[in-house]
Amino acid sequence: MGLVALAVQYGHMRTAMNAGYASRSRNGMHDLLDLETALATADTLASLNEDLTYGAGISGPAARRAINAAQHAPECTGTIVNARQARALLENPSLTVYENPSAMLMCVYKPDRALCNRITEREAPRLDRGVPSCANTARTNDHANLMRQEAE
Ligand code: SF4
Repeated sequence: MGLVALAVQYGHMRTAMNAGYASRSRNGMHDLLDLETALATADTLASLNEDLTYGAGISGPAARRAINAAQHAPECTGTIVNARQARALLENPSLTVYENPSAMLMCVYKPDRALCNRITEREAPRLDRGVPSCANTARTNDHANLMRQEAE
């Protein structure tokens, strides 16, 4: 139900939330965002793990980290049912892999390397402001094929 769309929009939404709800600590909307984002991340890990198992290739500066994260997919699948569990996943730097279909890549998020968050080390990437040369990028064969199709 819009999980991927929400994940893609997450960076922008988080900014809006922080601006509009700065005086409030974690509230229901933040919990919902965390939950939906963590579920999308778990789906991304599961899908990547399956692709790699069936021989898909992956490249890019963050490819090794993406492969390592995908190996944890079975531990994440079906285990996230509340906001606390969602935050545990999102706060684990070895698992934060975000599918970004509009940019045709994955963001294997490490705040100190993020070109979309140069000023502050935000907790989530700005997928809507991605920079192709970022060290957090990785591309599977599917992403590369999509790029080729777009270029034709
Ligand atoms: S610029 Fe880097 S950290 Fe930001 S969304 Fe793109 S890959 Fe992720």
